[in-house]
Amino acid sequence: MLSENQKAYDRHKKANLAHVAAYLQKNPCGVCGEQDIRKLRFLSPDEWPCAVSACLVYGTSWRLVNEMERCNVRCVQCLPKPTKRVPLWAKGR
Ligand SMILES: [Zn+2]
Repeated sequence: MLSENQKAYDRHKKANLAHVAAYLQKNPCGVCGEQDIRKLRFLSPDEWPCAVSACLVYGTSWRLVNEMERCNVRCVQCLPKPTKRVPLWAKGR
């Protein structure tokens, strides 16, 4: 049995996940044009770490959208540094 809090949290996460998927469908990799959202990651343009994943889980949707727009979309091949972390939108369903 899921608690009410857990249900609210899941709803929130699903809604944010849909935002990210829609954004990535419109914004392929900025280098090679890769469109598979499971391969796409957000790359921060400055020294701040990209907080898209954190916003997805904990943030409000406007904060999430702000964060996505601030970051560049890169596929795993075009990232300057490889990352082992698999973001939520890239996990199997
Ligand atoms: Zn690429």
